[in-house]
Amino acid sequence: MPNNILIVAETRDGAPRKVAFELVTVAKQLAQGMGGKIEVFAMGSNLASAAQALAQAGVSKVYVADDAALDASRFAPELHAAVLADAIRAAQPAVVLFGATGVGKEISARAAAKLDWGLVTDCTDAKFENGALVLTKPVYAGKAIATVKAKSLPAMVSVRPNIFPPVEANASAAPVEIVAVKMVNVRAKVAERVKKAETAVDLSEAKIVVSGGRGVRGPEGFEPLHALAKVLGAAVGASRAAVDAGWVDYGTQVGQTGKTVSPQLYIACGISGAIQHLAGMSSSKNIVAINKDPDAPIFKVADYGIAGDLFEVVPALTEELKKVMAEK
Ligand SMILES: Cc1cc2nc3c(=O)[nH]c(=O)nc-3n(C[C@H](O)[C@H](O)[C@H](O)COP(=O)(O)OP(=O)(O)OC[C@H]3O[C@@H](n4cnc5c(N)ncnc54)[C@H](O)[C@@H]3O)c2cc1C
Repeated sequence: MPNNILIVAETRDGAPRKVAFELVTVAKQLAQGMGGKIEVFAMGSNLASAAQALAQAGVSKVYVADDAALDASRFAPELHAAVLADAIRAAQPAVVLFGATGVGKEISARAAAKLDWGLVTDCTDAKFENGALVLTKPVYAGKAIATVKAKSLPAMVSVRPNIFPPVEANASAAPVEIVAVKMVNVRAKVAERVKKAETAVDLSEAKIVVSGGRGVRGPEGFEPLHALAKVLGAAVGASRAAVDAGWVDYGTQVGQTGKTVSPQLYIACGISGAIQHLAGMSSSKNIVAINKDPDAPIFKVADYGIAGDLFEVVPALTEELKKVMAEK
């Protein structure tokens, strides 16, 4: 069996998601140890331009399942997983890489069950050492890091977004192969998708995240955070306490039961640093904590800590950053 690596590239609104290009970086790292070609599989509808972008990511081949029934607006996990499993059977890779996103988690688990392959989820590193696939992944809500060795190949791996740098899609174009889509009966599919009115930065792909917790005291307490986020081009996140209080919607929750983010910069405002919150953000490259309690646990994981009232610190920071940005 060839030692090929197959990347399952997610697309959104006709373009590949950033994590797809991050997975190419992971695949290149793996290929150094195991050799083999790097191939990509994408499924959805109207994927011509997405396929072209993926084909220029320095890969050997792009397989595309392009059918209206696979449109993201009608996401049907049973159908998507079945189409994916067919593509994997045909491509015969040794390793399949997914982004550990909502969609990635859903289809990877289903495809692994269909093919009876092992799946290691939410990895933050993947290497091929002495003939073995070795994965690193946070466990116990980020309290410990596990090193997992795949007992055998083929295997599937999902990789946490924002950990690896994305490759530039500027290589000469690889061939694109359209694969046949075999329909299956689905028991459930998305009936309607309601797009949020605001065109804010996507939290899970943001390079900078400004998050608020119970310390912001109410929905209006998020306004200074939005002002700071605007200056930085950041997304706004929240702790579960802020979400449960109804101040912000669930889509902004960071943590064990919310989104996992790994931005370059995470600014936690009025967040105590409960383990369940850390589970969703502790892999951020730089963590800044603003908390009026100097003993708050968040300071233990923070690279920079500001012990102070967020309602004084955040506006002052915003004003200073505005000046810095204006000088640029
Ligand atoms: C199964 C399970 C799953 C969970 N999943 C998640 C999850 O996904 N995400 C998550 O976040 N939580 C999750 N939680 C909840 C978690 O345990 C904490 O309760 C929650 O993270 C606390 O949110 P917080 O830090 O905003 O609030 P608190 O712990 O109440 O902290 C508020 C902080 O704000 C500070 N503060 C107050 N006023 C100011 C001010 N003016 N300026 C600066 N600082 C101020 C305080 O000093 C304090 O440290 C989960 C819990 C369970 C049991």
